[in-house]
Amino acid sequence: MNKRGHVLNALLLAVGLGFVLEPAVDVATGRKIAQITVPIVLGALFPDVDTAFGKHRKTLHSLPVLAVVMAYPIVFDNLQFVWVGVLTHYLLDLIGSRRGIALFHPLSDSEFSLPFGVTTSSKYADLVTVIITALEIAAFWAVHTYVVDLDVDVATVSQAIGI
Ligand SMILES: [Zn+2]
Repeated sequence: MNKRGHVLNALLLAVGLGFVLEPAVDVATGRKIAQITVPIVLGALFPDVDTAFGKHRKTLHSLPVLAVVMAYPIVFDNLQFVWVGVLTHYLLDLIGSRRGIALFHPLSDSEFSLPFGVTTSSKYADLVTVIITALEIAAFWAVHTYVVDLDVDVATVSQAIGI
């Protein structure tokens, strides 16, 4: 997926997640959207830094990189929600391209992709991006509602687990 697609996806996702995390439509919802939009967009742009540094679709398109970004809020109490942008970038590259990404780099350089990929140049690219975003918001809502509170006060959590 190209930069435009990643930004479109990240912006829509941030708005959707703002409503998931603050369902009442009020000032808190607006605040939440403002809080998470820039981190998610930055996260969504981050993996393609490997077009200039490292090997594109490998160096910064792997699960170890995602794990590192996800560890930041817990270990350092910063970069909250950036992982959402990185994760959605991977999903969009998996679906929105034919080539795929090296999820297990540096352990393996094999590139993974989904068989029903849609190319960036396709006239359906934006529609697919919007559909993927809607599915992501639904998945995030399900995890947030039934599995783990994704809007936790990370400072309290890291104190509780002693790091
Ligand atoms: Zn990418």
